[in-house]
Amino acid sequence: MRLSTMFVPTRKEDPAEAEVVSHQLLVRGGFIRMLARGIYDFLPLGWRSVRKIEQIVREEMDRAGAQEVHLPAVQPAELWQESGRWTHYGAELLRFRDRKGAEFCFGPTHEEVVTDMIRGDVKSYKQLPLNVYQIQTKFRDETRPRFGLMRGREFIMKDAYSFDVDEEGALQSYDVMFEAYHRIFKRLGLEYRAVEADTGNIGGSRSHEFQVLAETGEDEIVSCTECGYAANVEKAEIRLEVAEAGEPSGSELATLRTPKARTIEEVSAYLKRPAQLIVKTLVYMADEKALIVLTRGDHQVNELKLKAYLNGELGRDVQELRMASDAEVEALTKAPVGFAGPVGVEGVEIIADLAVEPMVDFIVGANLKDKHHVNVNHGRDFEVSAFVDLRQAGAGDICGRCGGTLEAHRGIEVGHVFFLGDKYSKAMNANVLDENGEHRPMQMGCYGIGVTRILAAVIEQNHDDDGIIFPMAVAPYQVVICPLHLKNELVVSEAERIYNELQAAGVEVILDDRDLRAGNKFKDADLIGIPVRLTLGGRGVENGEAELKMRHQSENEMVPLSEVVDRIK
Ligand code: ATP
Ligand code: MG
Ligand code: MG
Ligand code: MG
Repeated sequence: MRLSTMFVPTRKEDPAEAEVVSHQLLVRGGFIRMLARGIYDFLPLGWRSVRKIEQIVREEMDRAGAQEVHLPAVQPAELWQESGRWTHYGAELLRFRDRKGAEFCFGPTHEEVVTDMIRGDVKSYKQLPLNVYQIQTKFRDETRPRFGLMRGREFIMKDAYSFDVDEEGALQSYDVMFEAYHRIFKRLGLEYRAVEADTGNIGGSRSHEFQVLAETGEDEIVSCTECGYAANVEKAEIRLEVAEAGEPSGSELATLRTPKARTIEEVSAYLKRPAQLIVKTLVYMADEKALIVLTRGDHQVNELKLKAYLNGELGRDVQELRMASDAEVEALTKAPVGFAGPVGVEGVEIIADLAVEPMVDFIVGANLKDKHHVNVNHGRDFEVSAFVDLRQAGAGDICGRCGGTLEAHRGIEVGHVFFLGDKYSKAMNANVLDENGEHRPMQMGCYGIGVTRILAAVIEQNHDDDGIIFPMAVAPYQVVICPLHLKNELVVSEAERIYNELQAAGVEVILDDRDLRAGNKFKDADLIGIPVRLTLGGRGVENGEAELKMRHQSENEMVPLSEVVDRIK
């Protein structure tokens, strides 16, 4: 392509909303353009890179025996009602009605649609195993779309679904996908880890995320320096030092039962000094199902552990945790809380379970060693019923597998493989006859890859101050030719010759035929990250040479014009 005719609207300034380098460079390099929050146009360069990623994913899926299909993005509500997710999926699901009033959603994922497709035609174990995949636009109405392509609302995902007659087969299908994912992320040149991931409320036993290591990643992962165990902190098994009941210390949190709720004024009167309530995380029953978690500062509570604890120990039916709104926070800080003994004591955190009425329970604990509760007496004011560690696992924790030490990284979740069991097949009656002639729900797995998120992840790992440094596999073009003196006929004719010969050899090449100064051409070439740059200057060409420079190296090399094409192709 001749750059003079291409649509590559590069910019000098970072967009104001871009917080991470991939977002900045994708916009500045003219790869994407924001249409609405979390919704982007892919411009020619951006789309070429997306298609490169898609193609690698496609080749490896095909090689692993999965078959490509293309399913509708718009899905009828009935299917989601059958699986139960119409009510449970929450606000990320974009719902709408057609002109007749029928309800639909824009698919955030396709378990229902694919299960419906397979159940229609697959009736016998003899038709299994099957694995179908698609590369499709998804929509998730994320609360915080951000970081450009990293967390969009509309994005492209590869999603595959496996169907087997039994669990053993399903786990084999899972392993095949697991291996295919390794091949994909290696071909993309990414530094990544496959980590054990939480299976959430699906309850399957096996799940891994593929996490690209990057400071800007939204996930936290830990890995053991000794046994190689790696997991998302949401799931990480760590060895805990358990405190004696009645002596909360370290990071344990105790459930306290207070005889009576007190307001902060009452607590102040009791302590004979002004009390200040240091609430780091506050949990209270907001409605039948939801509890609200309010987390202050850098305090991080593992939501899954907290939910399991509230459901298990406290016997609540907590379906989802959400952040409190500003109004709720305001109301909460004025409301009476359970007896707040450790008020104002540094290092003590209170997790209050403020049942709206009557207030009976709250949870309190110390997160620093030897910070014991002040003016709260065991037996009189509370009983300790359980100790739970609700912290996220982190660096320095003890590996739950081997006793080694864990190190922590940040990661970008680019892939997720999940053994689903019969969650969808059972709810949606997707049964087959097994060898004994009995009906049984198929065993499923689902396997996602964030195609557009990968483009962001590649850039997070491959850039410098001047711009993107694309690995060959993802680069929109492989070579850029920069003729510097357009008035020099020899420069122009040699540039044209090399351009044509490279194209004929199947190399994807840009000819920067714009009448610009060398500095401007180099700036753009560096910004958009083309791996190979070939520069033809007047003097060099007269000496029969061109300058060859790799984007990832600082040195360049003079190469005879007659050898250039063979060197590059
Ligand atoms: P996250 O934890 O980042 O929200 P997820 O666990 O909700 O992701 P999955 O349901 O596992 O995502 O979807 C499969 C893949 O789709 C993810 O591994 C990720 O690469 C990609 N993906 C998910 N949400 C987004 C998004 N909002 N923008 C871009 N890619 C996404
Ligand atoms: Mg998500
Ligand atoms: Mg996730
Ligand atoms: Mg996931």
